[in-house]
Amino acid sequence: MNQVDEKQLIGTGLKKRTEEALADQFLRKAVAFTTEKLKSAKLQAAEDFGHWEEWRERGKQIRKHVIENLDYYLTQFTDNVAKAGGHVYFCKTGDEAVKIFMELAEERRAKLVAKGKSMVSEEIHLNHHLHEKGIEAIETDLGEYILQLAKETPSHLIIPAIHKNKQQIAELFNNESGEQFPPETKVLAGYARQRLRNYFLEADIGLTGCNFGVAESGSITLVENEGNGRMVSTIPKTHVVIMGMERLVPTYEDLEVVLNLLARSATGQKLTSYTSMITGPRREGEADGPEELHLIILDNGRSAQLGDPVFQDVLHCIRCAACMNACPVYRHVGGHTYGSVYSGPIGAVLTPLLQQDMKEAGQLAYASSLCGACYEACPVKIPLHDMLVQLRARKVKMGLTPLAERAAFKSFQTAFGNVTLYKMATKSAYYLQKPFISKGYIKKGPGPMSGWTQSRFFPMKPKQSFRERWEALQKELKNAPVVAKAPEAPANKGGKPHEH
Ligand code: SF4
Repeated sequence: MNQVDEKQLIGTGLKKRTEEALADQFLRKAVAFTTEKLKSAKLQAAEDFGHWEEWRERGKQIRKHVIENLDYYLTQFTDNVAKAGGHVYFCKTGDEAVKIFMELAEERRAKLVAKGKSMVSEEIHLNHHLHEKGIEAIETDLGEYILQLAKETPSHLIIPAIHKNKQQIAELFNNESGEQFPPETKVLAGYARQRLRNYFLEADIGLTGCNFGVAESGSITLVENEGNGRMVSTIPKTHVVIMGMERLVPTYEDLEVVLNLLARSATGQKLTSYTSMITGPRREGEADGPEELHLIILDNGRSAQLGDPVFQDVLHCIRCAACMNACPVYRHVGGHTYGSVYSGPIGAVLTPLLQQDMKEAGQLAYASSLCGACYEACPVKIPLHDMLVQLRARKVKMGLTPLAERAAFKSFQTAFGNVTLYKMATKSAYYLQKPFISKGYIKKGPGPMSGWTQSRFFPMKPKQSFRERWEALQKELKNAPVVAKAPEAPANKGGKPHEH
């Protein structure tokens, strides 16, 4: 099987991808339908749970405490992983993580890697590297498996193939198997289950991500609905975990809080179908589990956010995708438009920060209406909308905005800083707009304004400004004839109050 070249979607072209997504009616319908379903399920689950705001605050405090003391909890966690028999590797970059994985694979002469869902492995383009070395990597999460056949990357954090319908999936499965499956969920899922079962049995290495590492025990928590993560982490002789360095909770008590928030925020479930806690490899006398467990902990730009007064909190994220489901931009264009592994509001913040690239990836900060729906949805209260504004400000400070935009804002600043200039500018705007006016509206704006008027009309600027109208009104009132006042009733001095 050909491997996906994840890199093909990373890079520039946000505008082009946006236009393509907006023109794809199926994609828009599919993404809007599923995100709405997930969003409603989350709202219902939060209401049924009760005291949601208190749980959110607890979740935020747990994540904040961990990130503020990350060195302590990382040490405690990795010490406990090692005590339980696991091997730990810290990697500063994605390339280092790939190198470690390759060494592990080569030492074991691995030919087949069965993968559970892991966004971090997507982040470091592991499949691409494995393919180059002739090692087959099979995605065993159903959505990821579909995308692997389609040679695409995930477009959503928890529903990776959110943009595909049953017909498209049937075609992919038919091409792979040479059979003719009807586009029915049960049949398609049955085929995938049958096909993937062999991979679980034959894989040399099982690879998973880690939803949360529990520092007090060194346990790796996997949250999933298909059971493939459990298969991948127990059947192959070697289990390799790749996790972002921030994905920790101090105790099981804290884990209970974040698991309650994660499942409800992601799918509206009380708990996902499978929650596995893995502490070290198989011990003597145990029936299941791998012979070895290796844990690769990835930095890849995360530690650069530590101590940052604005962006440190982005590390609180528990990857539930609720912000994506709530975001009006994501709901219109889907995940591939962002051109990054992480899409939606969290992706728009995280990608420029992790890639430390404000020039290209920083463009994502504009893929937002700044409505704040992401913050409202976030179970750990990350102020993504504020961060997006701050990213835009950072881009401006770095002089990375287009020359025309800088010139426009400079003129704006000059005009708004001087009353005479302001008056002149507003006066001349009335005359400058005239060639574009039709029935009181600008219906086809010039230059950058054309984007706005593609979907709505812009009201024309009236001849009189508000200030001028106000001044005229004041003058009118001053010159108006004075109406004689009615005589006041005499005061009731001393005696009883008047009775009415
Ligand atoms: S930012 Fe918040 S809502 Fe978005 S994925 Fe992370 S935890 Fe979920």
